[in-house]
Amino acid sequence: MKIDSITAYVIRIPLKTPFRISAGEIRTKDGILFACRSGDRVGWGEAAVDAVPFYAHETVGSVLDLAKTVLAPQMMSRDFADTEALTTLFDSHRGNRFAKAALEAAFWDLLGQARNTSVARLLGGTRDDVETGPSIGIKATPEATVAAVGEQLALGRRRIKIKVCPGKDTAVIRAVREAYPDITLMVDANNAYTPADFDRIAAWDAFDLQMIEQPLDEGDIYFHSLLKQRIRTPVCLDESIHTLHDAQVAIALRACDIVNIKVCRVGGLVHARRIHDACQAAGIVNWIGSRVGTGVAIGARLAAAAWPNCSLPTDAGLCSMYMADDILAHPWTVHDGCHIKVPTAAGMGTAVDEAQLKRYTVWSGAL
Ligand SMILES: [Mg+2]
Repeated sequence: MKIDSITAYVIRIPLKTPFRISAGEIRTKDGILFACRSGDRVGWGEAAVDAVPFYAHETVGSVLDLAKTVLAPQMMSRDFADTEALTTLFDSHRGNRFAKAALEAAFWDLLGQARNTSVARLLGGTRDDVETGPSIGIKATPEATVAAVGEQLALGRRRIKIKVCPGKDTAVIRAVREAYPDITLMVDANNAYTPADFDRIAAWDAFDLQMIEQPLDEGDIYFHSLLKQRIRTPVCLDESIHTLHDAQVAIALRACDIVNIKVCRVGGLVHARRIHDACQAAGIVNWIGSRVGTGVAIGARLAAAAWPNCSLPTDAGLCSMYMADDILAHPWTVHDGCHIKVPTAAGMGTAVDEAQLKRYTVWSGAL
């Protein structure tokens, strides 16, 4: 596969409501997409970053800079036989995994189109339909969170995730659990706690949570292993797992029961699959995490969510609950309240609507 040209699109799409996690709040979806051309085909990829370091260390600006100076020239420098070869070349530069994942996704999209096969199938997906669940941001009061959960349940969602942080945690979880005693409920702290909070977190065992996601700092795999010994609630790592090595350390330290694999966070689908396979061999359950973004980003997540060890619901597919609009010609749709079809079209299944893209593009340029 020879890439002839790459165009970057910096976009800004309004959110329906601000999205707050323990790290802060976003009010618009700022992002960056890449269109990679090979002959008459176009492959799309999206870097799931924001204007500032919010969830990710990387930003729209850093992704654009790295793509312009390093990754796009590398990508156009030769004819790649497969995505492994591209990944190996990208790995010659440290970090910047959100940027790499975006361009890798565009390459997969092209590869699937060229082989007339879906990326999900190329990557060994075994599901044609996956369950998806909402992620409810931090609200001002427990009552507001209970109301938001109620809205999601009324739409047919089953697995409910709520964001928590110090001061917006125990009372919120208790209120939701009392209002809905039987739902599958999990919490995500996005790094907000420290070992000094172990007693507080241990008290949440009373709420029968499906899991607690990333309670401690992303660098604290060791302290997660100590927490895991203290609580019955399953521990899920998200931000801590950037690489296969991180996953291997977490497995060796018995630091978690579950790993949320974010394709964007680990540098793309090749790396995501390696982490998936390591977790599967170690008896660690996976699910595919999401980030607020356009339907282009969702395509790669759905391809991964079809993998055999991804037996817990994904966050992907529900960005429309946050985003005021999308740029796909055929936005992803949820059926039966909480299910989404794994795309079967050749490539990633993410045809971009040019008019919609133009509407939300704040800058574009050839790399
Ligand atoms: Mg998370």
